[in-house]
Amino acid sequence: MEQGFTATGGCRCDDNPVRYEYTTTPFEVHYCLCTDCTDVSGGALAIIAVVEKDGFNVTRGEEKIKNFDTKPTAHRKFCGECGTHMFLLVDIFADFVLVHVPTLDRDSEVGQEPDRWLFTDSKHPMVTIPDDGLPRYPGWEDSPNAA
Ligand SMILES: [Zn+2]
Ligand SMILES: [Zn+2]
Repeated sequence: MEQGFTATGGCRCDDNPVRYEYTTTPFEVHYCLCTDCTDVSGGALAIIAVVEKDGFNVTRGEEKIKNFDTKPTAHRKFCGECGTHMFLLVDIFADFVLVHVPTLDRDSEVGQEPDRWLFTDSKHPMVTIPDDGLPRYPGWEDSPNAA
């Protein structure tokens, strides 16, 4: 764990944006191709930082955060005003917050490089996974860190 590490991010509101930070380096960072992540973010993939709950804080605008469960076990937190999906809580990772890395400030550190591709079976047909040498897993179940 780095001393004095802080990653900061937030939503897209100009007025009173939701702001969050984490102060411990992530347990892991992964690319996620699951349909829940891609649908809510409208993206080809998600980049997720798995961060210890103890080191994560919403520092501003908490009252604007809404929840949407894409599964009974996946609780997605987004800004009710601008719709930015910033992080989620997943029951099997009870001690962690899963942060959507692109909602970090562009000049913020992330704290880790992505080290795996998850839910490759759910990949959109228009997406090509780059030949980056990282391990690929069809879901959570083959991930070494799955509960
Ligand atoms: Zn917002
Ligand atoms: Zn996902």
